[in-house]
Amino acid sequence: MRKFIADVKNKVLEKGEHYITSDYKTRNTNRSHKGIDLIGQNKSIDNVTAIDKGEVITSKKSNTAGNYVEVKQENGFITRYLHMKDNSLKVKKGDKVSKGEVLGRMGNTGNSTGAHLHFAVTDAKRNDQDPLPYLLGTKDFTKANSNYYQDFILKIQKVLGTKVDGIAGPNTLNKTITISSKVNNHHPAVLVIQEYLTNLGYKEVGKLDGIAGKNFTKAVKQYQKDNNLVVDGIITKKAQTWKTLLNI
Ligand SMILES: [Zn+2]
Repeated sequence: MRKFIADVKNKVLEKGEHYITSDYKTRNTNRSHKGIDLIGQNKSIDNVTAIDKGEVITSKKSNTAGNYVEVKQENGFITRYLHMKDNSLKVKKGDKVSKGEVLGRMGNTGNSTGAHLHFAVTDAKRNDQDPLPYLLGTKDFTKANSNYYQDFILKIQKVLGTKVDGIAGPNTLNKTITISSKVNNHHPAVLVIQEYLTNLGYKEVGKLDGIAGKNFTKAVKQYQKDNNLVVDGIITKKAQTWKTLLNI
């Protein structure tokens, strides 16, 4: 089944608008599928391009992946581009690539039954990530301020009125409050959470306005989805979303 995803032109394929032919495992009947398979419009064979700037850490051929390239992104995440055509790889290990740079040509090498691009994203520890938010541009690979977690804890402790020691534990959790578009939607904690989610790459947050409105709810839902939490857009007092935010 082909599913068209709009507005992702020039992300990982140079010309074609992308069709998903096989989706990421959590939305797929093939639950072990670790990436998204894409073909170009009208099945056109297209050049494969880097989704964002980074450093090539792998450029070689394997039996299963075919000719493939791995790029380490600015934030340490790894993007993978599989099944490229023989002799088409344009980059080698150690190369710095820019956004949109051609890596090779879509192909049918390795464990593949037709020309397509298998695009996958992992974090620095190679835990699989859903590539779709990156294709849609709701998440990116921008390196966050390395102190953003610590900043978040200090700021959230301050606005929740607990001891400001930078250590998130039961005392901080105890002081947490429910935040949603209906409850505490102008509480100072909203801005602190907006900043934190933005640092984590959640562009859905939009303007940092301190208001838990439509965008805030959207971002919280996406965060909950990504962390396998109940997806309701509500950060409930002392509950799992708070624990995950605080990393407890
Ligand atoms: Zn695939």
